[in-house]
Amino acid sequence: MHTQTISQLAHGLRSGQFSSVELTQHFLDRIKRYPELNAYITVTDQQALQAAQQADIKIAAGTADLLTGIPMAHKDIFCTQGVKTSCASKMLDNFIAPYNATVVDKLNQAGAVMLGKLNMDEFAMGSSNETSFYGAAKNPWDTSKVPGGSSGGSAVAVAAQLAAYATGTDTGGSIRQPSALCGITGLKPTYGRISRYGMIAYASSLDQAGPMARSAEDTAILLQAMAGFDPKDSTSADEPVADYLADINQPLQGLTIGLPKEFFAEGLNADMATVLETAIAEYRKLGATTQEVSMPNLKLAIPAYYVIASAECSANLSRFDGVRFGYRCQHPQDLTDLYVRSRGEAFGKEVKRRILMGTYALSAGYYDAYYLKAQKVRRLISEDFSKALSEVDVIMSPVTPTPAFGIGEKLADPIEMYLADIYTIAINLAGLPALSIPAGFINGLPAGLQIIGNYFQEARLLNVAHRYQQTTGWHQQLPEDFT
Ligand code: GLN
Repeated sequence: MHTQTISQLAHGLRSGQFSSVELTQHFLDRIKRYPELNAYITVTDQQALQAAQQADIKIAAGTADLLTGIPMAHKDIFCTQGVKTSCASKMLDNFIAPYNATVVDKLNQAGAVMLGKLNMDEFAMGSSNETSFYGAAKNPWDTSKVPGGSSGGSAVAVAAQLAAYATGTDTGGSIRQPSALCGITGLKPTYGRISRYGMIAYASSLDQAGPMARSAEDTAILLQAMAGFDPKDSTSADEPVADYLADINQPLQGLTIGLPKEFFAEGLNADMATVLETAIAEYRKLGATTQEVSMPNLKLAIPAYYVIASAECSANLSRFDGVRFGYRCQHPQDLTDLYVRSRGEAFGKEVKRRILMGTYALSAGYYDAYYLKAQKVRRLISEDFSKALSEVDVIMSPVTPTPAFGIGEKLADPIEMYLADIYTIAINLAGLPALSIPAGFINGLPAGLQIIGNYFQEARLLNVAHRYQQTTGWHQQLPEDFT
């Protein structure tokens, strides 16, 4: 059961091959069997079985939706009413959310059965899931490797079949990068396509929620349930939601693919280049043509992102002061001591580094030199994309510079870690949608292909991914030790 896609599971439930309670119990047993993957922070077994019972009643009554009764899990950044929502930080280790994020509400309405909350980098800051207060999640293709971050637990849960699908968030690559390193399909939608309400903020102008699943088709089903305007999020887009399955099977004849020359310049790992060339050859067979595009400002994406993201996080994380949320130090002497020790004791090293960098970049005297400058660079990068996307239908690139690296390998060198985001970060600065799909293996480890499209063109991206998945089987490969 655990290897099936959403449509297969929905069919199995409706035709009475198994009940939602059986399916849920099966996933709960698998979660217990593989604790070494450290994918989950919290398992909500009782609640899951109750939701499954309710789903079975709906299925029997013939009122079920496609997602009704299918077990899934949320990244622990989404507020879940009555359930611990930690953001993988000591700061929120004792935080029980008083309300649901809109994403959680929407999936609940669609009949989702939540198995629990998934591991991640602390406050979504990281590219390897190693900054989690609960320890690193492990890559099921090789447990000595990182799963990628920050939505590492989500990617592990889907790849090792500890959930039928998962939610993630992507500020600079956190859905796409772990999807690529774990061999699953992950979509970062257009900024504003999915509500951010109840999603703990990292960098508000970049954060976007999205689905992580086994195929482009599953991803389309999930986006359908998650997308839409939300009056509770002032940056949510008041744009009609497309029918993401309607055109998913359209032939790709005449599709033009842009290949940014800057992405393929020296520096691209030779094995990764081969994976990409093979994928592009496949697209040519499917009727697509390719064209070189240029994005001269791409090289500025990492420095601009780390100034903007750090600046925004320093403001967002100021609410964690030991008074209103989460951790409070023991026996504070006065208010200053309370702030200093609560924050000092509860935030991890990477979070503190970002707060320091962000506060510095925003301080009087440095604001113009760093923050304002970074915002200008951001505009130039968006313009590069707009120009390229006026010439081609989609842009393709690698997702990561290399396959999964070893646990501990980059932890001592933050800059080295930041460079792992080189192919994903610019897309967030521009606010564009992008998808990561499995496109092959390098020494037994998955490698991803990134497909970038214009604003609100998610349906097109899913179509481009789906056709490829119909003719190649990369997305169906599963890690042997966990099947
Ligand atoms: N690795 C990037 C960072 O640490 C992106 C993380 C994310 O997308 N949440 O900021």
